[in-house]
Amino acid sequence: MIVVKFGGTSMADAAAIRRAGEIVRSRLDRRPIVVVSAFAGVTNQLLHIGAQAVEGQLVPAMASVQALRDRHMTEARALLGDGPEATALVAELSSMIDELAALAEALSVLGHGTPRAMDKIAALGEQLSSLVAAAAFRQMGMAARHVDARDVMRTDDRFGKAEPQADEISDAARRVIAPMVRAGEVPVLGGFVGATAHRITTTLGRGGSDYSASLLGAALRVEAIEIWTDVDGMLTADPRVVRDARLITDIRFDEASELASFGAKVLHPSTIAPAVKLGIPVYVFNSRNPTGSGTRITFDAPRRAVTAIAGKKSVTVIKVRSARMLLQHGVLRHIFEVFERHRTSVDVVATSEVSVSVTIDDVSNLEALLNDLQPLGDVSVERNRGILALVGAGMSDDSQAMARALAALDGARVHMVSLSASGINLTLIVDGDQVDTGMQRLHAAFFGRQVAA
Ligand code: ASP
Ligand code: MG
Repeated sequence: MIVVKFGGTSMADAAAIRRAGEIVRSRLDRRPIVVVSAFAGVTNQLLHIGAQAVEGQLVPAMASVQALRDRHMTEARALLGDGPEATALVAELSSMIDELAALAEALSVLGHGTPRAMDKIAALGEQLSSLVAAAAFRQMGMAARHVDARDVMRTDDRFGKAEPQADEISDAARRVIAPMVRAGEVPVLGGFVGATAHRITTTLGRGGSDYSASLLGAALRVEAIEIWTDVDGMLTADPRVVRDARLITDIRFDEASELASFGAKVLHPSTIAPAVKLGIPVYVFNSRNPTGSGTRITFDAPRRAVTAIAGKKSVTVIKVRSARMLLQHGVLRHIFEVFERHRTSVDVVATSEVSVSVTIDDVSNLEALLNDLQPLGDVSVERNRGILALVGAGMSDDSQAMARALAALDGARVHMVSLSASGINLTLIVDGDQVDTGMQRLHAAFFGRQVAA
């Protein structure tokens, strides 16, 4: 068994859904279970409809409901034509969208939306798309069967970002999904959506469909999870900055996590942790380029000194200097308590005997933070710094990597250097306007320049 998950862009319209269907067909011998996102953009639209309704803007909200109705009907018709299957599907979609309209009206009367009501609205995107996908795959000749995610994805009742209940999900997946697969069917369910023990609809938080795929994969101990999206996989650098960035065919989970913290948006590793922890490989593939090799994420991919280079601009460095730190214990604790109190997370830390430098991303509490740091020493702030990070699980085994990195930067000022204890991340703090060129130079040094074909 494998789990095959299609993101919103792989579910954008009839043509995309057909491409997804062909991908599923090509995997039938591996007994796929399909998880789908809402059609591209739909979750945002639904949340917007909810917010407008609450603000009493019922007219634009209803116009958006109508647009969603038209879009789903159009794509359903394009996929199914107008036989009896199409009629049944259209009726079912239509009644779900009627319910959305009724909900929007109720919210506008109340002038108030609870997280529970918002989840009911947000979940509709996947509920609609999964019905369409299942019907489309059947039309393509596969034994696809729609599964209501709420019958499987048990969560608690933290609406908006509900916590999955792994044991219940395992039981339900074995009871509901495994027998279908054994019978040669292809179960199709919406990601992102769950339900409480009382069967009240919940959602797993934005981008939660990857999480659904991973939970399901873990529950059923599948052989692999495939995440189909609109990029070829994870790359050795941001392709907008480094034009010859390459595909990473194999990456370790911890490296992928490290890269995600730099905004590599392909997928959020925490969402695939349940599966990867069990040794289930997760692949990222491009549904527009289905024969590409993709990126394989595992716990034990080969250790390379540098797997990828990441960067981040507009980072703020805070330095606390105090002679009193010399030979004192507890100073770091006091300093970090201040960050904790102001809910500001620290990215990079470098210390010496008399100073501590940290970088932060979020400056929304900066002033209060600085006020509380002042009693602990001389505090200085450097804005407009940037981070360059070389990520590689074998970094600390390679005695030359750091020297090569610094040499590659060719004299650009480096304000802080930090090599994490796990040796997976060498971080260099540079001037913000040096991030792009720095990334290009580091990439050229570690990956060479690719000759244009
Ligand atoms: N449709 C949901 C979202 O946009 C979940 C997902 O696509 O992963 O957040
Ligand atoms: Mg999505």
